[in-house]
Amino acid sequence: MYIDGKWVKAVSNESFPVINPANGQQIGSVPKGGAEDAKLAVDAAEKAFQTWSKMTADQRGHLLRRWYETILDNKQEIAETLVLEQGKPMKEALGEITYAASFVYWYAEEGKRVYGETIPASHPDKRILVLKQPVGVVAAITPWNFPAAMITRKVAPALAAGCTVVIKPAEQTPLTALKLAEAAELAGIPKGVVNVVTGEPAEIGDQLLKDSRVRKVTFTGSTEVGKHLMRKAADTVKKISLELGGHAPFIIFADANLDLAVQGVLQSKFRNSGQTCICTNRVYVEKSIASQFIEKLRDASEKLTVGYGLEPETEIGPLIDEDAYKKVESHIQDAVQKGGKIESGGKRLTEFEGGYFVKPTIISGATEDMKIMQEETFGPVAPVMEFEELEEVVKRANNTPYGLAAYAYTENLKTAVSIAEQLEYGIVGINDALPSVVQAPFGGFKESGIGREGGHFGIDEFLEIKYVSLKI
Ligand code: ADP
Repeated sequence: MYIDGKWVKAVSNESFPVINPANGQQIGSVPKGGAEDAKLAVDAAEKAFQTWSKMTADQRGHLLRRWYETILDNKQEIAETLVLEQGKPMKEALGEITYAASFVYWYAEEGKRVYGETIPASHPDKRILVLKQPVGVVAAITPWNFPAAMITRKVAPALAAGCTVVIKPAEQTPLTALKLAEAAELAGIPKGVVNVVTGEPAEIGDQLLKDSRVRKVTFTGSTEVGKHLMRKAADTVKKISLELGGHAPFIIFADANLDLAVQGVLQSKFRNSGQTCICTNRVYVEKSIASQFIEKLRDASEKLTVGYGLEPETEIGPLIDEDAYKKVESHIQDAVQKGGKIESGGKRLTEFEGGYFVKPTIISGATEDMKIMQEETFGPVAPVMEFEELEEVVKRANNTPYGLAAYAYTENLKTAVSIAEQLEYGIVGINDALPSVVQAPFGGFKESGIGREGGHFGIDEFLEIKYVSLKI
């Protein structure tokens, strides 16, 4: 682990294995940290905060810029580590490192634009100043589906704002997190500013949550764990940002460019084997074009190459583990039992021993009562349904506790504006299936989360507002 600028074992001296999801083999091991390790990391972050927060934004920006360059200098190596512990195709892993680095680059500059305000006072002898100050020590708890980007999307704005950070990466993908910390060390980020604690999620999480020195928790992961953290954060009234689950509808109107819509579903549904929180979960197609669309989608999905991430032609990698596979399998079975028709895929590919590879799957005739229509599948399965009218499809699309991303394809401007305004989602892609970029706000409505990451919105999450009333 990386605590206070040192590479350390767990206090317990225990470790746990890191498994390659493509074949079930161990690729390494990392310390099994617990409460004591988390406390040591907060001690270090708290100490480093005293100096890091007092540096100028420009000084911090220089160090962030060096961190960005170091990540890119080591891009290939970090991407290979990511593929080995996470399974995604190399092309996607390289794309993720570029995306991850873009947050460090962007916030290196944005830290310089944390502007305060002055407000006209009510008395001639008073002045009102509004200052923005770093919130303090930040706990960042991150998932395995984007082992690099989910870290930098939190840590870069936190550091730019003047905060210090304790990262608790997902137990499936700790090696990428440690590589990023190595890059931070090489870049000269002072000790204690970035700390990584690997190990027991609940034990480390509980310790970070109950420590009143931790002033902010930023989390990406399941809605269930997010709610748990929100409850725990209440005891010390920490600021929180939560990026939780999604259940994205993908709506295709009869006037859409069908080929672009097919390509959009492929990108949004099958990227990372369907394991992203903004992945399409439900496809709604206007009735008049449904059969034509399903045929095109089936043909295109059958051409996708499933395989090992390090092989250059691979487009679809394995699922992260057995639990992930069981969920996908149960969603497919439930859909078939309730009358869904498998148009393509539908099975695990058994030729990959020790890994859980599922062929891209298209299910037609889906209905709203299927599990796949209500729960996040997190796998390469696309249920397709028909609709007849805009108002009807909006209602169906919004009928979920989630509200992260939604997509709509149409060539009609009026339809585009109407649906974009009516969808109860934090991110709406109109004729665009890949909306995530560094400068835009990423986050969800309803049970998909609280707060935004990216852009100038993302740095506000790490700042307190201080009102200074000045009598002269
Ligand atoms: P997923 O279903 O994507 O694995 P999780 O919400 O389980 O999502 O995991 C996201 C992150 O939350 C991981 O780093 C995981 O270790 C962490 N986590 C899981 N349970 C807890 C907990 N009780 N307290 C703190 N962190 C947790």
